[in-house]
Amino acid sequence: MELKISANMLYNYVQCPHRLYLDQFEDPVMRDPETAFTKLLWENGIDYEKKVVSDMKKPFLDLSRYMGIEKETRTRKAMNEGIPIIYGGRISTDLLVGEPDLLVKNDHEYLPGDIKSGSGLEGESESSEGKPKLHYAIQMALYVDILQKLHYAKSRKSFIYDIHGRTIMYDLDNSKGRKSQLTWWEVYQNSLETVQKILGQEMITNPSHGGSCKLCHWKSYCIKQLILLKDLTLIPELGRKKRETMVEQVNNLLFFAKKPLSEFISGKKTVFAGISIPTLEKYHARAKLLAKIDKVPYAKTRIKLPQTDTELFFDIETDPMHDFCYLHGFVERHHADSSTEKYVPFFVNNLNEKEEERIFIDAWHYIKQHFPCTVYYYSPYEKIIWKKLARKYPEIITSSELESFFNSPLVVDLYTDIVKKHTEWPTFSYSVKDLAKFLGFQWRDKSPSGAESIEWYHRWLENKNPEIKDRILQYNEDDCIAMRVLLEGIKKLPLKTIK
Ligand code: SF4
Repeated sequence: MELKISANMLYNYVQCPHRLYLDQFEDPVMRDPETAFTKLLWENGIDYEKKVVSDMKKPFLDLSRYMGIEKETRTRKAMNEGIPIIYGGRISTDLLVGEPDLLVKNDHEYLPGDIKSGSGLEGESESSEGKPKLHYAIQMALYVDILQKLHYAKSRKSFIYDIHGRTIMYDLDNSKGRKSQLTWWEVYQNSLETVQKILGQEMITNPSHGGSCKLCHWKSYCIKQLILLKDLTLIPELGRKKRETMVEQVNNLLFFAKKPLSEFISGKKTVFAGISIPTLEKYHARAKLLAKIDKVPYAKTRIKLPQTDTELFFDIETDPMHDFCYLHGFVERHHADSSTEKYVPFFVNNLNEKEEERIFIDAWHYIKQHFPCTVYYYSPYEKIIWKKLARKYPEIITSSELESFFNSPLVVDLYTDIVKKHTEWPTFSYSVKDLAKFLGFQWRDKSPSGAESIEWYHRWLENKNPEIKDRILQYNEDDCIAMRVLLEGIKKLPLKTIK
């Protein structure tokens, strides 16, 4: 195989194996245009790298302006000379190629490192110090592999310089996680083998509907195919892994929906490894809805909602690139009468902690003024961010105060507590966008998405154009109204038991 495997290919493989295949073998004209948000991510990554490099205190050799073979020859020469820090180099073997941002020499070897405009760890919380990210680890492993093969490294150590200015060591001999038997290095080796098969066309990949599709440039192309194939991953939450378990016996959604569930149950188990009877019942019910055997959404159990004079529909907007919350938006309604509805936003004027703290205080006081009222939000995201803000600004709300707020029966995660537990819908996902659109709600913006909103916010920071601010607020208001539309839709759902 002539094509060398790069860190970018491994990154794509981790996101979705089919993306790796399509990027390599499908006609690029079939791709969706890159979104403004994707461009922003790129630009942001480049800007952050430039800033880190320009602030670097120690001297380094800059090879970033060279390309291809020349870059590589200069990198090898610099490593042979023992240059302590090399920026923007290139290393390769017959099979692999990598461009680590940094190559840093210690007493015995070179360690590769990347500058990332994201956090170097995932899952950091009060109770966990977090762990390396798979897509970073696998890229680091590729660099280490090349350096070892070229005899510039002996250990399997590398590092990430992250958005918080931290140097995080990625020791690839460490286990991937508490539950995993594999080390990061073994995960890399397995992935490399699969990537080789995909690139050599010895392995067929298939599209799979899931979270990675949101920002993928093959989204329209794949969704058409998935619908045509009536693919099982169109069933919300089923995903690639469970499809692989089921596909030998059930190769599409229509077939699954038409078969009686009893055909897939043997004693107290299903015939599919790792899928329990209640989970299969749930997927089967969803398949029947999507196949239009059951045509209308329904509630699986009687739904009890809090009864208060005032309801607040709450949605926040954050900028993950700056780890910053720039908007808390509320739609306030009284006596369940939508004509009383009013939008109340708390928006930052500048990107600084004082402003972030100010709107957090204002939003909290606003809620307190109306309490007791019902507060609706969608998915645990708002709760996660508020907990983070409370840790950052502890004088505003104590952790226990916030805990009891979110534990109150009047504060409802409409997705986790209601939609996911008690309802079924004929849609490909249970996002508030899909469900509210199903109920006939239209966002006023022509391309509404949280990702786009972040891009608008970045543009607003640059030029403070009031039209952009209006667009951000209008989008957030529509997200809040969509929740109210969904709530009303839920109240009207017929009651039906799955079996
Ligand atoms: S759209 Fe989804 S399935 Fe298709 S390549 Fe992208 S991530 Fe994979």
